[in-house]
Amino acid sequence: MAKIDDYRSVVSNEVVDELYSISKHLQGKVIQNINSTAVGGGVAEILTRMVPLLKELGINALWDVIKGNDRFFTITKKMHNALHGVDIEITKEEFEYFLEVDRENFSILDGNAHIIFVHDPQPVALVEKRKEFKSKWLWRCHIDFSNPKENVWQFLKNYIENYDLAVFSAPAFARSLSIPQVLISPSIDPLSDKNRELTGNEINEVFERFKIDRSRPIITQISRFDYLKDPVGVIEAYKLVKKHVDCQLILAGGGANDDPEGEKVLNEVMDRASSDPDIHVLLLPPGSDIEINALQRGSTVVLQKSLREGFGLTVAEALWKAKPVIASAVGGIPLQITHKYSGILTLTVEGTAYWIKQLIQAPEFAYNLGRNGREHIRNNFLITRHLRDYMLTFLSLIT
Ligand code: UDP
Repeated sequence: MAKIDDYRSVVSNEVVDELYSISKHLQGKVIQNINSTAVGGGVAEILTRMVPLLKELGINALWDVIKGNDRFFTITKKMHNALHGVDIEITKEEFEYFLEVDRENFSILDGNAHIIFVHDPQPVALVEKRKEFKSKWLWRCHIDFSNPKENVWQFLKNYIENYDLAVFSAPAFARSLSIPQVLISPSIDPLSDKNRELTGNEINEVFERFKIDRSRPIITQISRFDYLKDPVGVIEAYKLVKKHVDCQLILAGGGANDDPEGEKVLNEVMDRASSDPDIHVLLLPPGSDIEINALQRGSTVVLQKSLREGFGLTVAEALWKAKPVIASAVGGIPLQITHKYSGILTLTVEGTAYWIKQLIQAPEFAYNLGRNGREHIRNNFLITRHLRDYMLTFLSLIT
């Protein structure tokens, strides 16, 4: 795993020196991160790198995962969808069961923590215990909160307002709250296996293993199999393109432990894909970082056709690889893509298909988009910036 000093060659000496300077004020402080899954999805992705890097900087960062059963995660998935504006009813019993499971998890709270750092709605009610702890409480929201279902938002708000501070990913998600809020964008780690440079052989090996022909254009979307990632819309866009241009589609992803809907979505995708041998649906086990890296690098165009999106780490990952990306103008994606400068923003199947065709047929334009995208990610969305923002936030709470 990369060390802090290894980032000097990616960002600058000043950026890394500043991390050391800030961290001097946080030596030995205990920061307990709590979320609902150790693998799958963006939060786990970030914590996997953030926690060891904070430790290297002398901060005692811990990471614990709440335990829940299928019923709990079915409810939290419904809440997740409702917070993204999907019209779903959550019953009183379901809210009560949600609280019951959070309360069963009180025992993971660490009495020595200077800061208890809770990620996303699933563990939000742990804050009921705050009176018994001297810790400060920080709630981090990774989802698109721009248009939540009111009753779910009101339910959550009661808990969020017991925290000391709330962190959102994008200005559009900030809500009216009685506690202070800060905006901190997520990030990717340029030196992880997911994002580091790969050799031509490493990329070829992955494509050969999945039996994908590299001599024809390849369109790829990497995502959990989730309706909000719109894999079916991706297939429809591909089919429109395929009428005019010979190309292939890769839909690759796995599940997350806290997402029980994945199997249903995957089955639907398999169904739609079964008649076309040029559609490759790849089910990736956890830890498929080099595979994802190679698939992104070996693609002609990368898609992220989400209907809702918190930030969309997969967009940052593909832009970092200087790929032309076509993504929906939702959630945090417009923070990453300026239309026709560092990628393409679309909202429809037809728009997506139109731009796939354009980018396949205009490789120089596509190349420029990718190059601009990479610089935008370097300047704004690498883990070094994220570490700095988190440490400054910790300092604001405990000194
Ligand atoms: N990812 C992964 N394996 C998969 C699907 C996704 O490792 O099968 C990673 C992906 O590369 C990205 C993260 O999980 O780093 C997904 O984050 P994003 O913000 O795009 O979406 P989320 O899943 O959090 O909604």
